[in-house]
Amino acid sequence: MKILPKILKEKGEKILCFSITITGKCNANCSYCHFFARKERREIAFDISKELLESYLLLIKNISNVLSKFPQIKLYYRFSGGEPLMLNRKLFEFAQKAYEITNIKPYVLTNGKAINKKFIETAQKYKSINHLYVSVENPFDPDPGAPDVLKIIKKIKKFNSEKFPIIPGVVVIKNQHFKNLFKIANFFYKNLNCLPAFSEEGYALFTPPTELQLRELHENIVKIITNFSDKTKIILFPSITSISSLFPEFCGEHKNIYILGLDLENKYKINKQNIKQKTFEILQQFEENYPIFNCDDKNCKWSNGCKRILKGWLYGWKKFPSKKSIKSYCELKKTIYEAILKANIILKYGK
Ligand code: SF4
Repeated sequence: MKILPKILKEKGEKILCFSITITGKCNANCSYCHFFARKERREIAFDISKELLESYLLLIKNISNVLSKFPQIKLYYRFSGGEPLMLNRKLFEFAQKAYEITNIKPYVLTNGKAINKKFIETAQKYKSINHLYVSVENPFDPDPGAPDVLKIIKKIKKFNSEKFPIIPGVVVIKNQHFKNLFKIANFFYKNLNCLPAFSEEGYALFTPPTELQLRELHENIVKIITNFSDKTKIILFPSITSISSLFPEFCGEHKNIYILGLDLENKYKINKQNIKQKTFEILQQFEENYPIFNCDDKNCKWSNGCKRILKGWLYGWKKFPSKKSIKSYCELKKTIYEAILKANIILKYGK
């Protein structure tokens, strides 16, 4: 009997989520894209093969069986890219297959550009995709390569339904826009009656905020929480406030979230013949992606939220060594948590 990783047995509810890259093609050209920051567009412009997708799905099914002994753990997976909607009808066929094998419907992360009447009708006919999670753009600093935020908002408003939910996803906020965060929140609330998840630029593009930017972030978070907390869900910088960086869509659930990517290149060398053996290796990989963090500051009041942190913050990444990454993580974490605390005091006792 193989030994299960500690992460599964730790107290508290948690989510394990797989992100299956189903295509390397994309119909947008966002400068902040972390996917193409690490890959050459031309070299990765292909779809996942049926064979590889089925291997991934059989792995997820097997993991689901193992996790049935852990009622506190929920299992999800999403289709991502590139841009999954580039697959047209094949997307629905893949989702159908996925549901048949795993008994769990995938959801799809998209830039929303290809959403139209025909797509929605096909989605409603197949009923194999759980929902769409649509990334949106900072309206005050739109990236020239990204889809137009007003057009995407229009599509969300027009096509979102209970039958097929289209949920505003994540908006990437560069450090220089921390001062506009409240203005950005107002824009989305006015247009969509809800707020997308706010996220910092990830990995290769991350730059440490200045002291002034941290102060601006603090002030804006206080304003957002005091103005919107009774109106809608607020998701702030999930890679720091929760242990999810890639799946902010779950952060409102206040569970520990662990994410693992299954890529087009099959980096874990999974095939239909080795599913059982790979099941334990992949579960172990979750543990490695979210290592235990022993912070030097034993008196920190936020230490409960730092027990496990995303590997990148702990070990750094290219051009950004670990001492700097953990310093930035800590500064951002304290800024955000202090702002949340201040906002809650204002809400309770007034200014
Ligand atoms: S917030 Fe900073 S000081 Fe506090 S436990 Fe986390 S990393 Fe350590």
